[in-house]
Amino acid sequence: MSLPGVLAGIRAAEQAAGRVPGSARLVAVTKGQDLDAIERCVLAHGAFPLGEGRAQELRDKSALRPELEWHFIGSLQRNKVKYLRHVTLVHSIEAPWQAEAIAQAAQGWGRAPDVLLQVHNGEAQKHGAETHELAGVLREVEQTGLTVRGLMVMAPDLDDLPLPERDARLLTLFTDTARRAHDLGLSELSMGMSGDYPLAVAAGATLVRVGRSLFT
Ligand SMILES: *Cc1c(COP(=O)(O)O)cnc(C)c1O
Repeated sequence: MSLPGVLAGIRAAEQAAGRVPGSARLVAVTKGQDLDAIERCVLAHGAFPLGEGRAQELRDKSALRPELEWHFIGSLQRNKVKYLRHVTLVHSIEAPWQAEAIAQAAQGWGRAPDVLLQVHNGEAQKHGAETHELAGVLREVEQTGLTVRGLMVMAPDLDDLPLPERDARLLTLFTDTARRAHDLGLSELSMGMSGDYPLAVAAGATLVRVGRSLFT
């Protein structure tokens, strides 16, 4: 696959779901890729937001190309907040303290990124705010002055399951997340990766985070 192939897959899933073409946007996940590869495999095809999951790597690349649209999609530690200077959207807010730290750092940057709240996916080891805490987390994050645009969820690894069962579980997760965003009055939905983005688009994803498929 390559970026045009992924875009075609996204468009096909939009069409199958009766969605407006272009309403699901590709975020090119570029973690582990150098700027040459990003140029060749992503930017040669157009302007796409670039999703980085490791803060130091994001700092190094975005310092060289600050004019690109950088998104942070990883787990955010307090001492790494300062590396988000060039980021326009943080997908992975799990707790209000992260938003407070970003809002504070943003005073020095002269601009603040918008944020999404990451929802727990029901697996023990994974990140994200618990669903029963979401409304409270949203309120506290909004009090920091940052704009919360939506929810993000990361599917658990279900590769051991038979395909129909895996797909059914993923679709339930994505559909539940879409309903939660709707109930909270939030419009952006960051969900879907290389292995599951058609299902995420079917369930209403507006931002699809695809990495591996763009570079192979
Ligand atoms: C790496 C990563 C992706 C992309 O996953 P691929 O399987 O490479 O498409 C999406 N979201 C997050 C949070 C990631 O860390």
